[in-house]
Amino acid sequence: VSSRPMNKETTQIVEKLLASPQKIVIVGHKNPDGDAVGSCLGLSFFLKSLGHNATVIMPNDFPDFLKWMPRCEEIGIYEKEVQKSTEIVNASDIIFTLDFNSLDRVGDFEGVLKAASAKFVMIDHHQQPADYAVATYSDVKMSSTSEMVYHFMDALGEADKLSKEIAINLYTGIMTDTGSFRFSSSSPTTHRVAAKLIEAGAESAIINQKVYDTNSPERMKLLGVALNNLVILPEMHTAYITMTQKELDDHNFKKGDTEGFVNYALSVKGVVFAAIFIENKQESIVKISLRSKGDFSVNDFARNHYSGGGHINAAGGKSSQDLNNTINEFISILPRYKNELTDAL
Ligand code: 5GP
Ligand code: MN
Repeated sequence: VSSRPMNKETTQIVEKLLASPQKIVIVGHKNPDGDAVGSCLGLSFFLKSLGHNATVIMPNDFPDFLKWMPRCEEIGIYEKEVQKSTEIVNASDIIFTLDFNSLDRVGDFEGVLKAASAKFVMIDHHQQPADYAVATYSDVKMSSTSEMVYHFMDALGEADKLSKEIAINLYTGIMTDTGSFRFSSSSPTTHRVAAKLIEAGAESAIINQKVYDTNSPERMKLLGVALNNLVILPEMHTAYITMTQKELDDHNFKKGDTEGFVNYALSVKGVVFAAIFIENKQESIVKISLRSKGDFSVNDFARNHYSGGGHINAAGGKSSQDLNNTINEFISILPRYKNELTDAL
């Protein structure tokens, strides 16, 4: 599926929708990351500055390392306030869905969104966008949905509404989704947008510190366990990490603690494909995060084997088998990809 840019037609549809004050709900994906939180909050302050009533509702809670983001305490959490969230959605005129490509990415919140009479607008950079919105701004080449929110404001001729609050939120989203501007998704335009955000008051050093330098001692110990569990399969150019529920429990695991662990597997010389398998006894699943270098598509891998998806170089999914069987299956699948893995770089 090709990209659906913020062209004249989409811009006009959005302008029409926003011509008078609207009740707007903004939703990010389940297990919200920095980009989901940053893009949703940034967009909400922008829409408020245009005179709309805007509320951010996430399907479930977001990690503690993001809990300093400007006015993040105003975010509603569906899982914690089902009734209230449902009422707000039912009373809304417009629902913006950000940083996901299909309504099943919001977990149990999906039914509420599907039953809503509001019109949908999608802003997202994942592959294969679904077709539920009256206006779809989808571009898989974009670094982040947060960058897209800036382009969205610009397309509406309202880039001057960029406040310090919006800038900090969008900068955090871009920074976290690009691994601090490391991934190939960081384009010259991404850097230009980042520069504008810094000029508007997003202080890069402080934001980096707040996101990356707040590890708990338990998380550092858990990282030690993860690195100890690292398995390297040199012939397959693959490395993977496993985390059992017990290992998580023993280290007082909190949401977000394993964020980024998979990148250590990818950082091994010669490895082009990295995976982390995290046991979740409560949901009876193994949650899987996949990363790659070069042309090897983990989006395809996640879609084919783990009912998931994402981007070419970062994707995820889940398995309903136990951890051991999930790993055995993973190892048995790899030889089919040997040529692709060998030629990825
Ligand atoms: P992460 O591994 O950091 O959780 O996610 C990496 C990328 O894959 C993100 O863009 C995320 O939205 C996507 N992703 C993660 N898990 C799933 C999943 O279960 N289904 C789909 N469709 N995408 C996922
Ligand atoms: Mn994103």
